[in-house]
Amino acid sequence: MLMPLHTTEAIIIGSHDLAEADRIVVFFTRTAGKVRAVAEGVRRIRSRFGGSVQLFSQGRLVYFERPNKTLHKVNEFAALRPHRLLREDLDRIALASTAVEAVSLGVEENEPSPGLYEALAETLDALETAGRPSVVLQGFLLRLLGVLGYRPEFSECVRCRSRLPPRTEAHLSPAHGGLVCRSCRSGAADAFVVSPEALGFLRGAGGTALRLMDRIALSPNTLGEVADTLHAFLCQVLGRPLRSMGFLGRL
Ligand SMILES: [Zn+2]
Repeated sequence: MLMPLHTTEAIIIGSHDLAEADRIVVFFTRTAGKVRAVAEGVRRIRSRFGGSVQLFSQGRLVYFERPNKTLHKVNEFAALRPHRLLREDLDRIALASTAVEAVSLGVEENEPSPGLYEALAETLDALETAGRPSVVLQGFLLRLLGVLGYRPEFSECVRCRSRLPPRTEAHLSPAHGGLVCRSCRSGAADAFVVSPEALGFLRGAGGTALRLMDRIALSPNTLGEVADTLHAFLCQVLGRPLRSMGFLGRL
């Protein structure tokens, strides 16, 4: 059977060990969306991959496509940005894991999204060195919701379109896609309250470049609210909670 060979930029967003020394690696590629492929012998000490196949690593992937199959075969992976620092610090591991898990759940095979690829690459770069990596992650998750077509509405009521008075707390409903006003709230069973500070960040962050997120100072309480809010919206879209978020909560 002829197996076409493809070359693309890719970021490693997941993996599962197989029997022997093989591993299934989940790549987010620039040109083909999510690609799952077997890296044969990758766990051997003298593997021809030479330790380059690591979670969060970004590089050049060459793979054999097995037509009509969802599992392909890695021929070569050369890490260009290994993101080694992300694997050496528990906080950064948890934050980067949340980013790649959300992408892995949100994107499909054979559905390229070059904009999201760029955003994830930029986020992993920033998470490596940022002084406020948690804020960078929230900016990315907000971006991801938009790319997936579920940008939450944070300015006006999603039901009656009334504007929220400034500097007041607001109620958000993931099931309804955003803000619900006082009169419409009774129809939104999942609505929860957020502070004006958290709402201010959620409104502004969508228009802020990811590499500038690091400059935004949030109090721990506000950051917690923002993280809980984005996680609630992601749960709604992805259909289940992110495992890495549970890990973050325990740190
Ligand atoms: Zn309303």
